[in-house]
Amino acid sequence: MRGWIIPPPTEPIKTKEEFEAERTAKVTWLIQHDFLKSDRIKDALLKVPREDYIPENYRDYAYLEVPFPLPGERATISCPHSYPLFYEPLGLDQGDKFLEVGLGSGYGAAVAREVVGSEGLVVSVEIDPLTFEYGKGNLERAGYDDIVLVNADGGQGYKDLSPYDTIAITAACGSIPPPLIDQLKIGGRLISPVVKGDVQDLVLYEKSERGIQKLTICEVLYVPLRGLYGS
Ligand code: SAH
Repeated sequence: MRGWIIPPPTEPIKTKEEFEAERTAKVTWLIQHDFLKSDRIKDALLKVPREDYIPENYRDYAYLEVPFPLPGERATISCPHSYPLFYEPLGLDQGDKFLEVGLGSGYGAAVAREVVGSEGLVVSVEIDPLTFEYGKGNLERAGYDDIVLVNADGGQGYKDLSPYDTIAITAACGSIPPPLIDQLKIGGRLISPVVKGDVQDLVLYEKSERGIQKLTICEVLYVPLRGLYGS
């Protein structure tokens, strides 16, 4: 069986300093394991306290390579390495207009906002109303007030603010929802887990005048995409 062993819920007891030390150690580990290369993504991962995006009973495990359940239906905060795993090949950078499908905890949106900076824009769409409220609450508490949050089917993208430089789908789809390809700029990149038989591939797409180029990165395991283009 593929999956993770989720440790048992506990009362959180770790201090801010302990979390900070774990965060720094995690960033070192991500660099050593080649998940993390760019300075901007590194600085963002050092800056955003992952523990603030995890339900209280799992908070002390914030830096384990485990996805934790979130309020809502089948929502999880992805493992720590997933964020550079997505954002490095995507080339997420300062000034990007970035669309995330699957807000979840809000952690991915917060990290992206640190990477794109105030010259960029992060838009995140979440289909599950309970998960949406949870992720939105986390981002509000953290003081992010310029991330555009939308409670809707992200398979349909968010046309009003398109086109996007970069798009990350954080749930597994059978094939990329066509509206998301349409809402990508020429020269833009999209990354997504794509179901292939019993497994999922993380696939990077680049849109050019000549069409779409595809690059398979590795196998991954994500919750299924819901909505109109659900898998
Ligand atoms: N990026 C998140 C991880 C989210 S897990 C984080 O950093 O925590 C995948 C999320 O995608 C779940 O919250 C799930 O509810 C959401 N999701 C699934 N299908 C969706 C759809 N069609 N549109 C928007 N969100 C969707």
